Amino acid sequence: MAKTISEEIIKCKRCPRLISHGQKVGREKRKAFIHEKYWAKPVPSFGDLKARILIVGLAPAAHGANRTGRMFTGDQSGLWLYRALEKAGLCNSAGKKQEPETAHIHDGLQLKKVMITNVVHCAPPENKPTKEEIQNCSEYLRQEIENFKDVRVYLVLGQIALRGLWKTLPDEWKSSPNLPKFSHGKKVQLKNGKWILCSYHPSQQNTFTKRLTEPMLDEVMKVAGTLK
Ligand code: SF4
Repeated sequence: MAKTISEEIIKCKRCPRLISHGQKVGREKRKAFIHEKYWAKPVPSFGDLKARILIVGLAPAAHGANRTGRMFTGDQSGLWLYRALEKAGLCNSAGKKQEPETAHIHDGLQLKKVMITNVVHCAPPENKPTKEEIQNCSEYLRQEIENFKDVRVYLVLGQIALRGLWKTLPDEWKSSPNLPKFSHGKKVQLKNGKWILCSYHPSQQNTFTKRLTEPMLDEVMKVAGTLK
């Protein structure tokens, strides 16, 4: 992400509920991370400035990215996501080693032609941002869509990410104003030839219940790699 946008995000205070929640989690900490200093601020997007794939997730996890300061790291969702990216050749070998306990902002993780963002950049209570908070943060997603002109694939993780992206995309890119129906693996081509690709979010809620399996996520990543 362009440095200035990242700096703007880190300093953002538009959603007082989320800012205070992230700080509270950072003070109280989880026992396993009690000796760590939590980031406890809005988390900027992470990845390759020449991205051809923009992954849009939901929100930083309270003890994951809100702790590490890097998108999708430090929790089980990140472990799943980076493992699939590594297998698809979309990040370096550090992607295989993103266990929550060892992932660290200086572990050398690098994405290849991929940028990862969220519909909100702050950790919400119970992982549930309000509509207003998503609206507040959509300005950053809008700037990313505008700045990352090489992006060919918007890979959305879950229904809320799809809705957030859809509302933010320029209307002239859409063949229909209607929100596409979400299903795992669904592809929607935009008028300018770019793609929206849908995947279930690799949250524990989805992975524990096997709604999302490792082969399913690997397949989506493979498709993203071919569309880019
Ligand atoms: S969620 Fe987005 S808009 Fe709200 S405070 Fe965080 S960075 Fe700012």
